[in-house]
Amino acid sequence: MSCQKFKELLAGLQDGELEESQRLEVETHLKRCADCREELARLEKVKEVTGKVQYNDLPLEVWDSYWQSLYRRVERGASWVLISLGAALLLGTGLFYLVRDFFMDSAIAIIPKVGVGALIVGGSFLLVSVARERLFAYNRDRYKEVIR
Ligand SMILES: [Zn+2]
Repeated sequence: MSCQKFKELLAGLQDGELEESQRLEVETHLKRCADCREELARLEKVKEVTGKVQYNDLPLEVWDSYWQSLYRRVERGASWVLISLGAALLLGTGLFYLVRDFFMDSAIAIIPKVGVGALIVGGSFLLVSVARERLFAYNRDRYKEVIR
């Protein structure tokens, strides 16, 4: 058998998958062949390194920080939902009273109504624009977290 053939069997030897006769043949060859011994050592190094990446072998601290960051993210998400809900309710009722007591009041002239209307529309556009910018920054932060 050539060295190339033996080298193909080395991974099997490492994992204990060879038949008894094959294993003896490879082991006898390894005693005589420094080249194949080197290859086996290299394979063992690879196995050692890749074995470290397996999830069961991750140190507990890694899982701790994973759950912590997940918890933080859920917490922050819940805060945002509550803040948005509160803001929407306030804005909604505010708008309702504004329309009822100000825009519907025939004693108030049309010009101040147009002025207030313009302020509201302009302010809302600004708010939406800022919110969109924040959302964009937030999504990019999340992306960075994935990269890290
Ligand atoms: Zn060899």
